Amino acid sequence: MSAMKGICPKCGTRYCGWALTNPRERICKQCGSGLEIYRDGLWLGTAYSPFNAPQYKVKSSDFRDLIIYAR
Ligand SMILES: [Zn+2]
Repeated sequence: MSAMKGICPKCGTRYCGWALTNPRERICKQCGSGLEIYRDGLWLGTAYSPFNAPQYKVKSSDFRDLIIYAR
């Protein structure tokens, strides 16, 4: 199995390594674009840029609900 690869669609900078499994590392260090992600030669998708996936944010209202349900 080969490592993951990321290619910037904007400036062409290439990245490789398992750090790319972390969504926060799938951003071009040169221009800030979301990378095209490949693994074993298969295209996996384009990363978010800027990184703002909603599931990684916890709203205060969700937090309050969790506390209520825990009782
Ligand atoms: Zn770039």
